Amino acid sequence: MGGDAPRHAGFRGPHAGTQMRITLLASGSSGNSLLVHSGSTRVLVDAGISARRLTRAVRAAGAEPRAVSGVLVTHGHSDHVSGLPAFGAHGDIPVYATPGTLDEIGRFMTGGCRAVPVSPGAAFDVGDLSVTAFGVSHDAAEPVGFTVSDGACRVTVATDLGTVGDEVREHLMVADCAVLEFNHDERMLLDGPYPWHLKQRILADTGHLSNGAASREIERMAGGPLSALVLAHLSRRNNTPDLALGAAAEALARAGRDDVSVYVGAPSDAVGPIEVAAARRTADAPLGME
Ligand SMILES: [Zn+2]
Ligand SMILES: [Zn+2]
Repeated sequence: MGGDAPRHAGFRGPHAGTQMRITLLASGSSGNSLLVHSGSTRVLVDAGISARRLTRAVRAAGAEPRAVSGVLVTHGHSDHVSGLPAFGAHGDIPVYATPGTLDEIGRFMTGGCRAVPVSPGAAFDVGDLSVTAFGVSHDAAEPVGFTVSDGACRVTVATDLGTVGDEVREHLMVADCAVLEFNHDERMLLDGPYPWHLKQRILADTGHLSNGAASREIERMAGGPLSALVLAHLSRRNNTPDLALGAAAEALARAGRDDVSVYVGAPSDAVGPIEVAAARRTADAPLGME
């Protein structure tokens, strides 16, 4: 082997060797933002923390706000968009979202924030990355999740969904890294202090995904290329990191996948960078979705 052999010889595509990484800047009911790094491209998925925290977290993750190529917005709830004006203040920044979400978030689109409508199922490029939105079931105008690909690996972000539909499942099944909602433990939610109407809203098909529902999905995904799993959007009141981790670990054990790396997102501390590796895919396997 020569010394110049690429570090990831199994990768292919125009950016082979530039490992894609993600950093969860914040995750939970109080705010969500995730940074994807690949080569020279930096992309945010959601920007739901305060301006000061967002700027500090992006810098701590090794990027300048001005160097972020775009923000992908899943839906219009404030825990996903409250930091958008902070980006607009730094100059031109494309904000990619469905037309329904763009209507919903008008008041956050200040300064240099520039609306770029996207349609579920239609791939678009942001810098070096290819992105596809997919519809999710949630109580917002036109909510989506996103799959981000560098041509070799895929990260799928699916948070804020009450149930996993076929379209979501298709994306999760081919993800090398899945950022999946583990919102609540059903028992904690039912026994907890929330009023009944709020419990019903969370449990609805347009609400949030429970540890149990997410775990069942993981068992389905275990036959795919999954190498890293991030448990995201945990409720502070109705879940604990230990309960979420326990549910995920049991599901992976049942599926015989103790090789998957598992991370838990946190509301106020960054998690990562997490390297996204195509561990189980051979160099000749088709990429399918690009
Ligand atoms: Zn949310
Ligand atoms: Zn939401």
